[in-house]
Amino acid sequence: MQRPINEEIASRRTFAIISHPDAGKTTMTEKLLYFGGAIRDAGTVKGKKTGKYATSDWMEIEKQRGISVTSSVLQFDYDGKRVNILDTPGHEDFSEDTYRTLMAVDAAVMMVDSAKGIEPQTIKLFKVCRMRGIPIFTFMNKMDRQGKEPLELMEELEEVLEIQSYAMNYPIGMGKEFIGVYDRFNNRIEQARVEGDSHFLPLNDEGELAVEHPMTETSYYKQALEDVMLLNEAGNEFDVERVAKGELTPVFFGSALTNFGVQTFLETFLQFAPPPQPRQTKDEQQIDPQSSEFSGFIFKIQANMNPAHRDRIAFVRIVSGAFERGMSVTVPRISKSFKLSQTTQFLADDRETVNEAVAGDIIGLYDTGNYQIGDTVVGGKFNFQFEALPQFTPELFVRVTAKNVMKSKHFHKGILQLVQEGAIQYYKTLHTEEVILGAVGQLQFEVFEHRMKNEYNVEVIMEHIGSKVARWIENESDVKESMTGQRSMLVKDRYDNLVFLFENEFALRWFGDKYPDIKLYNLL
Ligand code: GDP
Repeated sequence: MQRPINEEIASRRTFAIISHPDAGKTTMTEKLLYFGGAIRDAGTVKGKKTGKYATSDWMEIEKQRGISVTSSVLQFDYDGKRVNILDTPGHEDFSEDTYRTLMAVDAAVMMVDSAKGIEPQTIKLFKVCRMRGIPIFTFMNKMDRQGKEPLELMEELEEVLEIQSYAMNYPIGMGKEFIGVYDRFNNRIEQARVEGDSHFLPLNDEGELAVEHPMTETSYYKQALEDVMLLNEAGNEFDVERVAKGELTPVFFGSALTNFGVQTFLETFLQFAPPPQPRQTKDEQQIDPQSSEFSGFIFKIQANMNPAHRDRIAFVRIVSGAFERGMSVTVPRISKSFKLSQTTQFLADDRETVNEAVAGDIIGLYDTGNYQIGDTVVGGKFNFQFEALPQFTPELFVRVTAKNVMKSKHFHKGILQLVQEGAIQYYKTLHTEEVILGAVGQLQFEVFEHRMKNEYNVEVIMEHIGSKVARWIENESDVKESMTGQRSMLVKDRYDNLVFLFENEFALRWFGDKYPDIKLYNLL
């Protein structure tokens, strides 16, 4: 390491990009990598998703470019900062891991397709970020296409997501007439399709162009000016502290595909995105990232899909101190120590065995079955466990049995382990104790089936019972089985808590009207 460890830690910026599929996350990631010098040209990767277990859009980048990025973390340096981008798989790869990854970041970038506005998957991911109170930066993408009106998009943020916004810049024109952005934050106009000196044009004290320019005659410029004046008067004020708490989202308009506004975004983002943040332990101690002792927690375990390799990788977010290859760490949950000689860290330009990593970084540990999701790993004299990761409300359910009843023992063992690992959620019916599995994404079932076969030698039969609205119960003793009907069922979760599975929101509301005394709640 070139710098002292405290400076290394302070330089880290660890975040995830959240978006609905096709909003432009891959394209954005690629542009960021380009600015970070990790790839040579900023061409585009077609958003083609192939391969059953192509767990990341990044694999697409990898395939098409022949560079070694991988499915979990990308790292590059920019302006003295070391940037870690964590992947949040979408599409058919959406799973609880996607949510849990958001537990390991200090900030989030929300990509919005400006023609579509706020879409369902964005809402789900946003809620998790919101719950954590981390800063959220918004990029309104695809301004080179005709989309919704910018003010309408900002309104949508406030109405659908209930977050206040501050437009850092404002688009001038849209689609074919996208001339550039009015950069409120840097007091300049950034021109589209213009390179070199005049790419940026200065503004005067009145907030108008300070130089003569044909743009001033266009209706787009006049409209943008009018809207900006409106925002100046009636909009929110920029407030760094509220940004830091995730109460106010800075909004940037641009186009990832044509690479417009990405660099300005990156620079401003890095200015306000926080360095590694402290994290709380189960006994409410705050662990400072600058502590000299190493600590971290496991937020994801990835099984190798290749049956020839049984190994798994546990991803650790380093919370404090530095990691050195060969060091010994303890997992307090099982009071066991391990010497960490085999460690990988994933770099954008080169996959190499990590020698040193610090708070804010992600390392991958080879796992032969010792680790669980949510585990704390500590070095030296540290002995504590970080707060548990939240459990998420599953939406998809299957009823599962072993194909061969003789394999019942292996079947239950496999399920137990995969459930503990966080790969899938376990439920059972009340008297018959049939196994029901819950997930937030379809991929989790496929992975489950695959791993049961390959790791536990059990073929399973999965009967889809579809998507359900799951609700836990505050006053369980008031619940009677007769309250369930055609559109709901009552099951127990792995901790033996009762859970209603409603067929849809409608059935949930109907239940609420009929049994107003039963207090239902959902997890995240
Ligand atoms: P992801 O699913 O969120 O990773 O989205 P991709 O980055 O794969 O983009 C989805 C599609 O939108 C691709 O065809 C991209 O080329 C396209 N796209 C991404 N950004 C822009 C943009 O700024 N403008 C336009 N016109 N298309 C874009």
